[in-house]
Amino acid sequence: MRIPFVAGNWKMHGSKAMIQDHLGQFTQQAEALNNVNIAVCPPSLYVSAVQSQLTSSSVKVGVQNVCDQAGFGAYTGEVSVDMLVDMGVPYAIVGHSERRAFYCETDRQVADKVAIVLDKNLTPILCIGETLEERESDQTEHVVKTQLIAVIEKVGIAAFANIVIAYEPIWAIGTGKTASPEQAQAVHAFIRNLLAQHDTAVAQQVVIQYGGSVKPDNAAALFAQPDIDGGLIGGASLDPMDFLAICKAA
Ligand code: PGA
Repeated sequence: MRIPFVAGNWKMHGSKAMIQDHLGQFTQQAEALNNVNIAVCPPSLYVSAVQSQLTSSSVKVGVQNVCDQAGFGAYTGEVSVDMLVDMGVPYAIVGHSERRAFYCETDRQVADKVAIVLDKNLTPILCIGETLEERESDQTEHVVKTQLIAVIEKVGIAAFANIVIAYEPIWAIGTGKTASPEQAQAVHAFIRNLLAQHDTAVAQQVVIQYGGSVKPDNAAALFAQPDIDGGLIGGASLDPMDFLAICKAA
């Protein structure tokens, strides 16, 4: 049995005031939820502010990106996985489509980051997904497969027991256009089958989140699909009551 996992990706949003207000309201009620894992991923600058609000909570914290170099060194502007360990941050989103598109992250860099995160026993949330153009030209499976294979070749299939996958069709991110539950399920099943070709037990174990305009009113139908195990939530995670409703739907 896979436990669903809902993570909030705040992107470049947040403030001290918002954290106090948001998490104060959210955590009390989230405590009562069973059988769902929850994380919030603020900008790294705010990690400790978020942690100080989460002390007695089952809600975990994550970051939105991590350096492709481990350790410490001359990498201006970067945050390393060792710093995540130091700060007690268990999750790192890796390969979000905005990182791939705006900061030119390649499949290879993404695979390197996954390996570095795993190496420190933290959990990467590996984002994969196709553009609208790719979907319309029937390339979805090809794109998702290429993105996944790069990681399988780097870390091996067994490592996927400790990886969370987030399938995020790029055309559905922040656009208000959600993949229908059937469209999303079809790709999730494709992903799980692809993993099963390498290792059936691992494929059954791996949590595959859906991301892309998940809202309180569409979350339940998406999460009811057999291969959708929760979500990676952008815009709706900024509203505590919306995020809570989505966590409840999982
Ligand atoms: P969205 O973003 O929920 O605002 O579409 C999802 C994501 O980019 O992770």
